[in-house]
Amino acid sequence: MTDFDVDRFRQQFPILSRDIGKSPLAYLDNAASVQKPQAVIDAMATAMATSYANVHRGLHTLANETTAAFEEARTIAANYLGAASQDEIVFCSGGTDAINLVANSLGQDHIGEGDEIILSVMEHHSNIVPWHFLRERKGVVLKWLDVDENGHIDIEAYKANLSPRTKLVAITGQSNVLGAFPDVRTMADLAHDVGALLLVDGCQHAVHGPVDVQALNCDFYVLTGHKTYGPTGIGVLYGRQSVLEGMPPFRGGGEMIDRVDLDGVTYNEPPHRFEAGTPPILEAIGLGAALSWVMEQDHEGLRSHERALTDHAMEALRSTNIVTLYGASPEKGPIVAFNLKGAHPHDVATLLDNKGVAVRAGHHCCQPLMARLGVTATARASFAPYNTHDEVDALVDACVKAHNLLN
Ligand SMILES: *Cc1c(COP(=O)(O)O)cnc(C)c1O
Repeated sequence: MTDFDVDRFRQQFPILSRDIGKSPLAYLDNAASVQKPQAVIDAMATAMATSYANVHRGLHTLANETTAAFEEARTIAANYLGAASQDEIVFCSGGTDAINLVANSLGQDHIGEGDEIILSVMEHHSNIVPWHFLRERKGVVLKWLDVDENGHIDIEAYKANLSPRTKLVAITGQSNVLGAFPDVRTMADLAHDVGALLLVDGCQHAVHGPVDVQALNCDFYVLTGHKTYGPTGIGVLYGRQSVLEGMPPFRGGGEMIDRVDLDGVTYNEPPHRFEAGTPPILEAIGLGAALSWVMEQDHEGLRSHERALTDHAMEALRSTNIVTLYGASPEKGPIVAFNLKGAHPHDVATLLDNKGVAVRAGHHCCQPLMARLGVTATARASFAPYNTHDEVDALVDACVKAHNLLN
């Protein structure tokens, strides 16, 4: 047993005291975006109120202070991800932007016609569509890894897909629907054996606590701010230094250049090469505050509380006999995808909202996975450590009432 105190933890999140209509908010949409602790709200407000200017180019005090705070956020992100150097940390505008950066840059000269990229069918559209662009524009071949109903990937099938033509494996760190955690380390080692790079889409994975990209042995790791207790408009691309150094820029503009004249341009070193224009300064400061805050938490306490919430929700929903559950791996993250028998998930989500219960419904940007599961949409409850067992009961209660209304 841990002594994790959910009531105390909740107090750090001002939004959680809201009501929705006549009901207290039960925010169970954390896999879409997580709420922000006061530490993050304060860090951004303080920066705006006391120390703000554009970064890098100034020679005045506020510019220097803001540059220091922005670069400090990069150092915090490097520590959070276990990077070897802060030069391996590229600030982007989110998870989608980070993956598009990699696809556009590698697509310029590293990956071409007939080369192969391996993806799983449970990837988020953000980790599918940029690779479809390379298929359409460059003739790159996409190879798909099947998953079972719990999101498990068969490593033998993966091995059979690897070939000397494999240039990249792009795989989720945690499924945003099934909650499954692929064995990224094994997949990375095998990818490297054929000379391929491996990208981890860590948008769902990174929220659970500090990551060790060196232990994962990945070449790229993508983190998004708004799902890691930080603001929207910021994401991190970790890239192994030797890999980033060989990559051309994707966007052109200020700060990414070494020298510009009328005949051409030479580029700055990574990470600045990939950060054209004014970066998301306040958002980076907010993300730095968020990651520092996460690092201070009792991860074991948070995890076991989330685990208990997830088990409680799965068991209680299952015992109603009106629910189909998707993804039942014992090791899954705090995500419960489900459908009520005879009801469309959009109707379910709307009826749950009438009781203050916020869940998502739809394809969750995972249409290939929906096809694999034989559905077009599901409802999805996703938990954060600030959720309570009372909120799980409210979810189950609201589901029973919705089912009675809809059938
Ligand atoms: C949310 C999410 C993304 C997209 O990240 P954004 O920052 O919202 O663009 C990509 N992959 C997964 C698994 C996600 O959950």
